[in-house]
Amino acid sequence: MSSKLEQARALDAADALAHFRERFLIADPETIYLDGNSLGRLPLCAETSMADLLRRQWGERLIRSWNEGWFTLPERVGGKLAQLVGAQADEVIVADSTSINLFKLAVAGLRLQRGRRRILTDDLNFPSDVYILQGIVEMLDAGHRLEIVHSEDGVHGPVEALLATLDEDVALVVLSHTVFKSGYMYDMCAITEAVHAVGALVVWDLSHSVGSAPVALNAAGADLAVGCTYKYVNGGPGAPAFLYVRRDLQKRLQNPISGWMGQRAPFDFALDYAPEVGIRRFLTGTPPVLSLAMIEPGVDLLLEAGLEALRAKSVQQTSFLISLWEEKLAPLGYTLKSPRQPERRGSHISLGHPEGWRINQALIHDLGVLPDFRAPDNIRLGVAPLYTSFVDVYAAAERLQRAVEERIYMRHSSERATVT
Ligand SMILES: *Cc1c(COP(=O)(O)O)cnc(C)c1O
Repeated sequence: MSSKLEQARALDAADALAHFRERFLIADPETIYLDGNSLGRLPLCAETSMADLLRRQWGERLIRSWNEGWFTLPERVGGKLAQLVGAQADEVIVADSTSINLFKLAVAGLRLQRGRRRILTDDLNFPSDVYILQGIVEMLDAGHRLEIVHSEDGVHGPVEALLATLDEDVALVVLSHTVFKSGYMYDMCAITEAVHAVGALVVWDLSHSVGSAPVALNAAGADLAVGCTYKYVNGGPGAPAFLYVRRDLQKRLQNPISGWMGQRAPFDFALDYAPEVGIRRFLTGTPPVLSLAMIEPGVDLLLEAGLEALRAKSVQQTSFLISLWEEKLAPLGYTLKSPRQPERRGSHISLGHPEGWRINQALIHDLGVLPDFRAPDNIRLGVAPLYTSFVDVYAAAERLQRAVEERIYMRHSSERATVT
């Protein structure tokens, strides 16, 4: 038996979080799921919650359920999510999608920073975030300039270039805390401090961090943040996103999509908009109760496991994967496209290969591994410490090896599917 496999088994045996795997639906134990960073697994208790939500809350209680918990669901679930991102319960609320929340907070932030024209982001950011910022610049038509700072190697965040370009004309810096392709993780404290030193605001996108690593928004003095709940939070496909606004900023910021759910007294039906005082002012319309409620089971599991322990396991697993890459995969042409430094790395590893797309197809269709693919040649392997085992990580590397050694990838064409 390979010594790496023995090592994986020993690590699983010593893993105090291993039993959390049983709390998820594992329909096909032979399939290795390494895409929890795109769509988290189904927590078993979500099935019970959903049944109650449908039958009792909707079916039996009908409209009465709005006063029996639905109306306050956005801030109740937001308050729990706050514990995952190091914020106060009244600083986080669930609403809309990540893109829309970014729109709301970025516009609100720019209005607060009147007179400043520069908006900074980097070329590792998720394209939707960049599109939203481009749309805002056009919509406001107020002389803003979006500047995309380039990463030299496409793996590490361009920290020095970002810091060097900061000046008093910068209104907003918008960054993914953990970037979606390489998994690079910014030092939130250091960046926030530098941005504050020139009087600008930062918006952090926490989509690839939340649920896999502790985030310390308050400790970093962070201003604004948004994030996704269907990745490591296991909230289910298309689950609504969350937003964070530091308490002292809330009353100074105006939600640009001023709908009735952000109104102080929505059921007075007054015709003048008067925003709610707290975090609810960042709501717009009626919350999607069914999918919003399904975020809670995943959050509860994460809180039960503890983020420090989850992060320790995640670092162990990505480090183990890198050691497997070094031993088995680098000789076959795979390149490491994630940071080697554990503290600068989120919970996924990207491997490049000239035949990346076809290898990815072989993994999915022939080898029982579900990773994902990010153009041009990134095979992205996400470890979700709540349910990924070390043997999963080992087996994935072994199948990546076979895909090339046995030329299994050659069975597939290089044509791309719509959703990768
Ligand atoms: C997944 C992800 C999103 C998702 O945006 P939606 O509007 O919810 O589709 C946004 N930003 C980042 C960085 C992501 O990883």
